[in-house]
Amino acid sequence: MPVEPSPAPLSVRASASRMGSELLSRLADIVGERHLLSEREDLYCYGYDGTAQHALPDAVVLPANTRQVAEVLKLANARHVPVVPRGAGTNLSGGTVPIQGGIVLALTRLDQLLEIDRANLTATVQPGLVTAKLHEAVERQGLFYPPDPASYSVSTLGGNVAEGAGGPHCFKYGTTKDYVLGLEVVLASGDVLRTGGKTVKNVSGYDLTHLFVGSEGTLGVVTEITVRLIPLPEERHTMLAVFDTLEDAARLVSNIVAARIVPVTLELMDEVVLRVAEASHPIGLPLDAEAALLIEVDGNREEARHQLERVSQILDSSGARQVRVARTPAEVDELWSARRAVSASLSRLCAVKISEDATVPRAAVPEMVRRIKALAREHRIEVAVFGHAGDGNLHPAALLQDRTPQEMERADRFFADIFRAALELGGTLTGEHGIGVFKARFLSLQHGAAGVAAMKAIKAALDPNGILNPGKIFGQV
Ligand SMILES: Cc1cc2nc3c(=O)[nH]c(=O)nc-3n(C[C@H](O)[C@H](O)[C@H](O)COP(=O)(O)OP(=O)(O)OC[C@H]3O[C@@H](n4cnc5c(N)ncnc54)[C@H](O)[C@@H]3O)c2cc1C
Repeated sequence: MPVEPSPAPLSVRASASRMGSELLSRLADIVGERHLLSEREDLYCYGYDGTAQHALPDAVVLPANTRQVAEVLKLANARHVPVVPRGAGTNLSGGTVPIQGGIVLALTRLDQLLEIDRANLTATVQPGLVTAKLHEAVERQGLFYPPDPASYSVSTLGGNVAEGAGGPHCFKYGTTKDYVLGLEVVLASGDVLRTGGKTVKNVSGYDLTHLFVGSEGTLGVVTEITVRLIPLPEERHTMLAVFDTLEDAARLVSNIVAARIVPVTLELMDEVVLRVAEASHPIGLPLDAEAALLIEVDGNREEARHQLERVSQILDSSGARQVRVARTPAEVDELWSARRAVSASLSRLCAVKISEDATVPRAAVPEMVRRIKALAREHRIEVAVFGHAGDGNLHPAALLQDRTPQEMERADRFFADIFRAALELGGTLTGEHGIGVFKARFLSLQHGAAGVAAMKAIKAALDPNGILNPGKIFGQV
C-alpha cells in the first residue's frame, strides 16, 4: 500500500518571530507578570511532551480563567502567532511540542473540580484538573469516572479530552469521548462557546462537543468540561495469566470476547515487558514466559464472581501456564504497579523508546501481534509489545540503542509498516494517543483525500489563521 502524502497543510501565516517586547507586555497585562514566562530556562521546560521531541516556544502564558484565555487568543489571532494549548504535557504524539514557536498556553492554573452533581450523575471540572483527583473525589461518593490513561496521576482532564484518551478500563467502559457531555471552548477568535450540557440525550444541531474531543488543541481551547459519571461497581477481581507463547495470550483475548464476557481490563505484556516489569517491581513474574495478561472483571457481587469463574474456566482451557488471582488490595496494587511502570522501565533499557498505538478490531489482535513481531525481525528492531489488548489497542515500542539518523529512519520505516498493517486489518493509525506530528503523513492513507479535505475545511472554519497548534494532525507547513 503506497504512503500518500497528505495534501498541503494549513499554514500559519506569520511566524513567532513577530513576538517582540510589545506583545510580551500585552500578554503580561492579561495574565499578570508572574504568569508570563519568557526566560530561556523556563521556555525549555515547556518545549517537551512525553516523546523525545523538543522545540522552544517564545513565551509561556498561564491564564487563570476563561476570560484571560479568550483575551490571549484574540491577541494571538490578530498577530497570527501560534498558540499551543498544554495540560501536563504527557501526550505521546508531539501534541504539545511548539514546533512553530509562539505561545504555549498552559492550562494548569485552571484546576478546580467545580461540581459533582449526584442527582444528574455528572461532574464539571476545569481543564487543568489532574485526572486522578477527579477519580478520587467521585469514588469517595460511590461514583465512578472510568477513563484511566496510565498517566492518570499526572495527566489533566483537558489533555484527556483533547486527545480522546483511553486506558485499561476502556475495554468495558469506553474512552473519554463516551463520558464528555458538555464543554466550554474558546475559539481562536476569542469567542467563547458552550456545547452540550448535563442532559444524556442531546441532538440539537451538530454534535460540537464530540468535534472538540480528540481535536488535539487544533480547533479551540477547552476551559470547562462536564462529564457523565456512573455508579462505582461493587466488586472487582484482578488476575494475572501467564502464557508460554505470545500468540496463546493474544488468542485468549478473542476467546474471552467470543464467550460474550466483557472484562474491565485485558492488558497484554510480552516477554520483554515482563522482564523489565520484574526488574523494576519484583513480584515474581516468570522470566521464561512469552506473555502475560492482566485481567480485571467487575460488577455487582454476583456478576463479578460469575465473570471471575467464567474467565478462570476459559483460562484453564486456553493453555494459560499459570493464573494468579489477587486476594488482597495490596496484591492488586502489586500487579498494577508492575503494569504501570512498564513505560518508564522500558525507557531505561535504551537510548530512545518510540511507542505507537495503531489499533485493530479485537478479533485481529493475534494477527496484529504476529505482524508486529515479523516486522521487527525484518527491520532488525528490538520491540516490546504491551497495551490494551481487549480493545485491540496495542503499544509496540521500538527500543533503539542509538539516536543516529540511520536508527531513527529504520524505526520510521518499521512504524510505517505497522500503520499499514493496522489499516489492512481494518484498524486505525491511533486508538488513543492522537495523530500529533508523527502520524500526520499517514492521515490520507486512512481517511482518503475527501476525508482529509473535510477535516481541513472544519479547521479553516474555526481557526482561519491556523494559529491553534499548527503542524499537528495535518503536518508541517
Ligand atoms: C507513562 C504514560 C502512560 C500513558 N498512558 C496512556 C493511556 O493509557 N491512554 C492514553 O490515552 N494515553 C496515555 N498516555 C498519553 C497521555 O498521558 C494522554 O494523551 C493524556 O490525555 C494527555 O494529558 P495531558 O494533560 O498531559 O495533555 P498534554 O500532553 O498537555 O496535551 C495533549 C494534547 O491536548 C491539547 N490540550 C491540552 N489541554 C487542552 C485544552 N484545555 N484545550 C484544548 N487542547 C488541549 C494539547 O495541545 C495536546 O495536543 C500516556 C503517557 C505517558 C507518559
